[in-house]
Amino acid sequence: MASLLSDLRRTHYTKNINSNSVGNEITIMGWVHEIRDLGGIIFVLIRDREGRIQITAPTKHVDQEVLDTIRKLRKESVVSVKGKVQDAGKAPNGVEIIPTEIIILNEANQPLPMDPTDKVKAEIDTRLDSRFIDLRRENITAIFKIKSQILHSTRDFFQNNGFMEINTPKLVASATEGGTELFPITYFEREAFLGQSPQLYKQMMMAAGFDKVYEIAQIFRAEEHDTLRHLNEAISIDMEASFLDDKDVMDILEKLINKVIYDVIDTENHSLEILDSKLELCGCPFPVVKYDEAVDIINSKGVEMEWGDDLSRAAEKALGEVYDNFYFLTDWPTEIKPFYVMPNEKDPTISHAFDLMYKNLEISSGAMRVHQHDLLVEKISEKGLNPDSFGSYLKSFDYGMPPHSGWGVGADRLTMVLTGVNNIREAVLFPRDRRRLTP
Ligand code: ATP
Ligand code: MG
Repeated sequence: MASLLSDLRRTHYTKNINSNSVGNEITIMGWVHEIRDLGGIIFVLIRDREGRIQITAPTKHVDQEVLDTIRKLRKESVVSVKGKVQDAGKAPNGVEIIPTEIIILNEANQPLPMDPTDKVKAEIDTRLDSRFIDLRRENITAIFKIKSQILHSTRDFFQNNGFMEINTPKLVASATEGGTELFPITYFEREAFLGQSPQLYKQMMMAAGFDKVYEIAQIFRAEEHDTLRHLNEAISIDMEASFLDDKDVMDILEKLINKVIYDVIDTENHSLEILDSKLELCGCPFPVVKYDEAVDIINSKGVEMEWGDDLSRAAEKALGEVYDNFYFLTDWPTEIKPFYVMPNEKDPTISHAFDLMYKNLEISSGAMRVHQHDLLVEKISEKGLNPDSFGSYLKSFDYGMPPHSGWGVGADRLTMVLTGVNNIREAVLFPRDRRRLTP
């Protein structure tokens, strides 16, 4: 029978019960992880977000009512356990709880749709179908504790460095960069799209005089291919700042990455251990590789690439063999970068654009932006786009747009790097890919 909480309240997370708690009466709440009935003694492992603890019930020394409840327990039911903490050398945290009251708060049906104890390995699709149970596993919870810390540190970093947090619309009338990656939607009588990037809006915030802004939000992209690093809905950490150039914002990005890594090591060491992720501070400065040099390296590794090509997957892999940590790729051909990227003053075929890479994975793209109205119109047309559909964006360049620069970091990709998972689906609670729209 499921119970309401009434005046029951948790006193501790399992991880906070240790040798200092011996003799105390505590109350924990969590899920039944394992039951071992040895006849004269019953062991139950209770799990909560922070760990597990052993409940030990010697049948001769525990109330009959408690024993009756214990014998009714099923795996993954939710319980409240009140009891006394006792030393126990063999138990996981060196302590165990002798129960005085057990209440079943809600029962779990059997059989479970998947095993949350790691004993039976399940395919990612099965796991994602029952994601709420999958997320109960400590190594999966660990990924999201780290992601939470990444986002927290990022906000701290921006707030401490004079950035304003903004929220830009995700329902938009036209494409950021034109193109095929857009999701069309029905917007009353009109067609509209889901935002693929806050790019144009964060630039307009520069014309608004907000000087330094950041946004952490969803981006939507109709990615054609099913890969381990693309999803159709991702989280982008975006910044834009006035009166700074590409080198300045690369510096900001490098500092952010180092702060995030420092904080994750500091606060989520246990999660890193669970994941066996050997995260280390990468130190400054990150190596800077010019596009020209990258082309040579890639060709020298036997992967064909011509000047002016975007990096193929094989090219990224070839580079990742040489650079095994974070590094910047700079001086990109203007041709393969979006229209809002500032061309080089002396040689307009190259641009003030950069990517931040981690081994073979692109983490971020950024650039100094074009702030001159007429040049922008020219570049929009050169890309085969119609300047008329950028009317309200272009207007902001006519009445006082400062020089500015910025970047966007894929938060899910950064989570992949820091947790060591190799499929982006592992770094997203409820991933959206070509085949998956539920749960
Ligand atoms: P890629 O070449 O890897 O497809 P991109 O150059 O198209 O990425 P940008 O438009 O530069 O991506 O977006 C900035 C960042 O946002 C990327 O560096 C990446 O970290 C992240 N990102 C972009 N698209 C996706 C996606 N579909 N899924 C997850 N993250 C993404
Ligand atoms: Mg990019």
